[in-house]
Amino acid sequence: MKVTEKQLKARCTDLNLGPLKDTAFGLKIERTSRGYTCSLVYRDSTPPEILIADASASEADACISGVATTSTVYKAIQGTIKPEFVPQEVFVKQHGERCPKCGSRDINPGHITSAKGELEQWHTCGRCATAWHNLYRLTGYELPVVMEDGAAS
Ligand SMILES: [Zn+2]
Repeated sequence: MKVTEKQLKARCTDLNLGPLKDTAFGLKIERTSRGYTCSLVYRDSTPPEILIADASASEADACISGVATTSTVYKAIQGTIKPEFVPQEVFVKQHGERCPKCGSRDINPGHITSAKGELEQWHTCGRCATAWHNLYRLTGYELPVVMEDGAAS
């Protein structure tokens, strides 16, 4: 059965809106004078990665199937899949000093609200304009160190 350009593009669209929706990249198919080119295009400034070039329609179709149904391609590009936001543990390791989205240190702390031993501080990123709350939890209390003369430091 012959695969048409329209069908290939439709499969790409289905993937981009489906399984690839939450990844940092999408699949793009282009028809050139020498055949089809399948590439991964990134939502950030990472340059596109060509998976197959000058392919026939059925080769291009197989390539799309590869992305859709096997883990091979996923594994090959694993290192380049970037989640949109850093995991919580990473954010904590960075001491909340970086934007959870773009990693910038250009962040603007805002108002603090407290409730039942937890604090929330509003932050915005000066680079990508993401807004978020840093969450703080009460961990205990500490008495001030008392000096010899009785004054608290
Ligand atoms: Zn940011």
